[in-house]
Amino acid sequence: MRILVQKFGGTSVDGRDCMLKVREKVLVGLNQGYKIIVVLSAMHGVTSNLIKMASSWAKEPDRAEMDVLLSTGEQQAVALFTMLLKEKGIKSRSCLGHQLPIRTDPTFGSARILDIDKKAITDLLKRYDVLVVAGFQGCDCTQRITTLGRGGSDTSAVALAAVTQAELCEIYTDVEGVYTTDPNICSKAQKISMIDYEEMLEMASMGAKVLQIRSVEFAKKYNVPVLVRSTFSNEPGTLVTKEKNSMEAAMVSGIAYDKDQARITLVGVKDEPGVSAKIFEPIASANIVVDMIVQNPSKNERTDLTFTVPRGSVKDTLKILGKIKDDIGAQDIFHDDNVCKISVIGVGMRTHAGIASIAFATLQKENVNILMISTSEIKISCLVKEKYTELAIRSLHEAFGLDKDVSKACESPLA
Ligand code: ADP
Ligand code: ASP
Ligand code: MG
Repeated sequence: MRILVQKFGGTSVDGRDCMLKVREKVLVGLNQGYKIIVVLSAMHGVTSNLIKMASSWAKEPDRAEMDVLLSTGEQQAVALFTMLLKEKGIKSRSCLGHQLPIRTDPTFGSARILDIDKKAITDLLKRYDVLVVAGFQGCDCTQRITTLGRGGSDTSAVALAAVTQAELCEIYTDVEGVYTTDPNICSKAQKISMIDYEEMLEMASMGAKVLQIRSVEFAKKYNVPVLVRSTFSNEPGTLVTKEKNSMEAAMVSGIAYDKDQARITLVGVKDEPGVSAKIFEPIASANIVVDMIVQNPSKNERTDLTFTVPRGSVKDTLKILGKIKDDIGAQDIFHDDNVCKISVIGVGMRTHAGIASIAFATLQKENVNILMISTSEIKISCLVKEKYTELAIRSLHEAFGLDKDVSKACESPLA
């Protein structure tokens, strides 16, 4: 049995006309002789509206019930789309996460997929030509509904492709592939024809929401070829696959940004062993993800410590710090939500020196002050004031020669 997974995001299923375009893509796959697993997101804006609704209902909505609520967005989409398939006489049915089942851990709101019943799916595919699966949702071992975090339908799709050994996982969205930076922010962004898992992982982790991070982790682990392309055109898209020949690797392949950042500064904490542990242990226990950390040199056995957390975690972080403030001897605590992390990414950095200095000089030329810096082997991230986001992206994009046309048509492996 030749299986193709096709995932369609929120803007691709936003009403009947869009869904008719989705049906055309499914028909192309069927005509090529595939059994198809279609994975759908909720219609555009539905998940965000449900989140707003819950927060007007309860101060701290119950996390398990929140997932029951959020999963309804995808439930609507799969039912409506399957009606359109049936109208054309296509043997198809909808499947919710708990029906397959897609088994996850019980971390409501950001559950991880543990297991998918391969036999149940292949048995269904013997009876149906198309299975329309609700993305973003699963269930834990007590049958409670879970969701996989924002953008989680990408992960549902890649996980289903991995388990069923599908030939390809197509991710259909509102842009024509993965670009050198967000094409909605920088008009000179260029489509990348092929990108390796590691680089894509770094782009996704640094904020390029075109693929959810966990979907790329799955693709890398199980070697699933992923083709990102548009629902609204027939352009070839971007193939995410195994490592490219490092000789061909561009020095810098993309610029990503992440506005979901807030900076917290602890002023004048005691500079002695154990202080960092006292700060970051309770933060980690509260499942708050700390990203960048900078500690200043000590003066009179006191130091300033600055770190970043997602904006939604600021309140909880400040609550925790309030409790330990006296113990760590902090003289003051500041926070700033108006910051953005800009990252320059490229596996070619491993073999090229001087990338960081070009990035810093470029920002300096634009008078953009760098608030924090972090680096890894294949990325350099700078935290800047949010108002400089577009300026920083455009100037770095130009400085690293990404404005030039890098697109070479990438044929779909299915063509
Ligand atoms: P979907 O609803 O189809 O899942 P998303 O909104 O989650 O779509 O992801 C697609 C969006 O990702 C694009 O509209 C684009 O603004 C954004 N994006 C950010 N960085 C990039 C990038 N490097 N390449 C392509 N798109 C990007
Ligand atoms: N509907 C969910 C969201 O908006 C999941 C997804 O679209 O991938 O985040
Ligand atoms: Mg998405």
